[in-house]
Amino acid sequence: MRRITVLGATGSIGQNTLDVVARHPEDFQVFALTAHSQANAMAELCLQHRPKFAVMGSQSAASELKNRLGKQVSTQVLYGPQALADISLADESDVVMAAIVGAAGLAPTLAAIDAGKDVLLANKEALVMSGQLFIDHAQRSGARILPVDSEHNAIFQCLPQAAQQQVGTMSLAEHGIDYLLLTGSGGPFRDLPINQLAEQTPSAACKHPNWSMGQKISVDSATMLNKGLEYIEARWLFNCSREQLKVVIHPQSVIHSMVQYTDGSVLAQMGEPDMRTPIAHSLGYPERLKSGVAGLDFTQISQLTFKQPEPKRYPCLQLAIEACWEGQWATTALNAANEIAVSAFLHKQVGFTDIAKVCDSVLQSLPATKADSLQTLMTVDKQARLTANKWLQEYAQ
Ligand code: NAD
Ligand code: MG
Repeated sequence: MRRITVLGATGSIGQNTLDVVARHPEDFQVFALTAHSQANAMAELCLQHRPKFAVMGSQSAASELKNRLGKQVSTQVLYGPQALADISLADESDVVMAAIVGAAGLAPTLAAIDAGKDVLLANKEALVMSGQLFIDHAQRSGARILPVDSEHNAIFQCLPQAAQQQVGTMSLAEHGIDYLLLTGSGGPFRDLPINQLAEQTPSAACKHPNWSMGQKISVDSATMLNKGLEYIEARWLFNCSREQLKVVIHPQSVIHSMVQYTDGSVLAQMGEPDMRTPIAHSLGYPERLKSGVAGLDFTQISQLTFKQPEPKRYPCLQLAIEACWEGQWATTALNAANEIAVSAFLHKQVGFTDIAKVCDSVLQSLPATKADSLQTLMTVDKQARLTANKWLQEYAQ
């Protein structure tokens, strides 16, 4: 019996994780669930999964949850960042699903890493904003990082077993690998005339053609900054050089990513676009668990196509690739600027194409600095947010 904590339990990944967990009551026990503000959704999850602890973002959300639960379960309700970190490192759990969205996930995910847990990593922003520091912490504590992001999970599955034991430190060349191919659908605006991008609304951006996901990652998929963040995530998980990492558009989302070996072989992982597959893989690793996802029906797949991402359509992807090789400060700044820009777009304060402008402007304005400690990373994150907000204020005038 493994004891699991789900950070971000009310989100898309959190709910899918609990769906898989519920299929295996003999294998998993839910130790703790966390959510930011959705007390209603959290109450339902607590009634179903009966965790020992539930952590909310604020005192008011915690009171609301307590009221809703009453005496129906013995779950203890806590709140705030310290409780979130304490729960992530508690001895009573073995596995932590890191599925908070954005930079808010860094502190609790690092706490789980430092405590040497099995960390199932969905929260790509945490790795993007801390890079080497994140990998170093895992090395020090012996925590095992298992990638949940479908592309990284696909690549992980296509790696030799020896490389799977060396997340963050492997040498791809020593394992006979030439390069990794990250696939991406291209998002909902893949075929739209480029001159219509500026007028696209949040609801149009959130209508992903193949995947159902939270709002922030849906917008990131439309700009392809999601692929950019994934590029940076892959660079750290698989210790790649620039030559060892490529991005290709694959509209059908059947192949979730690929590994090109030196002898000409390409290994691909395929499946329905349903996050329960990579979640079940990371929960069961090295064994396979039932996930509730149906097998692929190849007779229904008429074609698999591929193309290069167009730089003019996806300037955010280009920014992310450049930031990746510029240095840690740049990826931390880009992640922060994007969070501010996407939130402004979702609140209809800026247009779709302004997201790239905010990110670019922040990267241009911030000085290149050494960002290799938690403190310096947080300073860059803060500066980037201030600069992005200043851009938005000037835009509004
Ligand atoms: P979501 O918006 O559906 O859920 C986010 C969760 O985080 C919620 O439980 C919310 O309560 C919690 N949360 C939000 N802000 C918080 C804060 N400040 N403090 C504490 N908790 C907070 O997001 P999602 O789509 O489930 O994505 C979660 C993470 O997984 C993201 O990093 C995303 O990039 C990654 N991911 C998602 C998918 C997907 O299919 N949804 C696929 C791959 C990777
Ligand atoms: Mg992904």
